[in-house]
Amino acid sequence: MDFELTHLQKQIQNMAREFALREFSKEKALELDETYSFPFEIWKKACQSGLVGIHFPKEYGGQGHGVTENILIVEELCRRDSGIGIALSLADFSSEVVLRFGTPEQKQKYLIPVTRGEFISAGAYTEPDHGSDITLLFTTATQKGNFYVVNGTKTFITNGTIADFFVVLCQNDPNAKPPYRGQTTLLVEKGTKGFTATEIKPKMGIRMTSTAQLSFSDVKVPLAHLIGEENKGFYQVLEFFDESRIEIAAQALGVSQGAFDRALEYVKNRKQFGKRLVDFQMTQHKLADMATRIETARLLTYKAAWNYDQNRIDSKLTSMAKMHAGRTAVDITEEAVELLGGYGYLNEYEVERFYRDAKIMEIYEGTKEIQKNTIASALIRELK
Ligand SMILES: Cc1cc2nc3c(=O)[nH]c(=O)nc-3n(C[C@H](O)[C@H](O)[C@H](O)COP(=O)(O)OP(=O)(O)OC[C@H]3O[C@@H](n4cnc5c(N)ncnc54)[C@H](O)[C@@H]3O)c2cc1C
Repeated sequence: MDFELTHLQKQIQNMAREFALREFSKEKALELDETYSFPFEIWKKACQSGLVGIHFPKEYGGQGHGVTENILIVEELCRRDSGIGIALSLADFSSEVVLRFGTPEQKQKYLIPVTRGEFISAGAYTEPDHGSDITLLFTTATQKGNFYVVNGTKTFITNGTIADFFVVLCQNDPNAKPPYRGQTTLLVEKGTKGFTATEIKPKMGIRMTSTAQLSFSDVKVPLAHLIGEENKGFYQVLEFFDESRIEIAAQALGVSQGAFDRALEYVKNRKQFGKRLVDFQMTQHKLADMATRIETARLLTYKAAWNYDQNRIDSKLTSMAKMHAGRTAVDITEEAVELLGGYGYLNEYEVERFYRDAKIMEIYEGTKEIQKNTIASALIRELK
């Protein structure tokens, strides 16, 4: 057993750290958060530096690395700034569905621009009536001649108003039993007739990512935009979650570490009752608890990523990592706000934003209750 990152992994981690130190600033983050703006300029530079899609093969614009290398980047970016880091890490959201199941032509057309900073991607699974349970969908895709005609509504879609293409999960066969056996994923391009995206705001956190409601009204999607096979969409999305949930765990890990760093720095300088806050044993114990929680989240997240890269796909471990890291982020950012006292409540001191940005980790890509269901089902299966 070896818990050490390789030399190359450390280099990648350093590259991401240096990029974030150079390109992110507190002032910029405050402005982007306040104006609900995606960090377009920083995203372009991140793509030029090879920080987006590092896990794609070289022929599709990536560097042929694994999920582990990708999550090291995500952790570093989110550590430096929760809002910018999360926005950058979600810029290629759901591209992996194309990577895993798409045709070579689709990969050429969509993935290379994602790594070059020309395309932003999105994945549309949730509907107003189907969130945790997507086994039945009301968004339909009906084949007519050379097209699928898509009708329906998707909601809460990250990058909705800024994405160039969308992976959309549709009910292709409404009579399938169970219904999820009749689901299909399609690629829908922005600007396709009958397709609109409407921003959903105001919202609690991750204000630098767009969250949108998508409406499909007789949208004609060419048959060539089918991803993989018909009626396999549900399974494709579940497989995608096995990977993407590790990335969310890494976001949570970075956000936790970033909040901790700021709290530690603050208590080393702030004096009350004639002593620095860090000299009170109560503060030291808080710091010890926080650091231990972060380290356990890191161990689980890295193990889930490493396992994934060994082709040992383990939904239970992935869900454990996401659930634990998500909870850790919420608790650590709250502790950080408290350690800063009244100043922690002001957006100028950043932990306020980290706190607001943390909660989503326990909601998107499956709530913590859904992760528990996945973990429990696996445990029960293993017992049989
Ligand atoms: C900012 C943001 C970005 C998002 N981005 C995307 C995106 O890019 N693409 C996308 O498709 N979706 C996205 N989502 C949607 C997100 O994945 C869903 O909101 C989430 O899966 C929960 O679904 P829901 O909101 O319908 O809640 P519901 O499913 O209605 O759940 C409500 C509550 O009931 C609980 N619950 C549900 N079922 C069970 C059960 N069986 N046992 C116990 N408890 C249960 C849930 O845990 C939750 O606490 C995003 C959401 C947000 C807020």
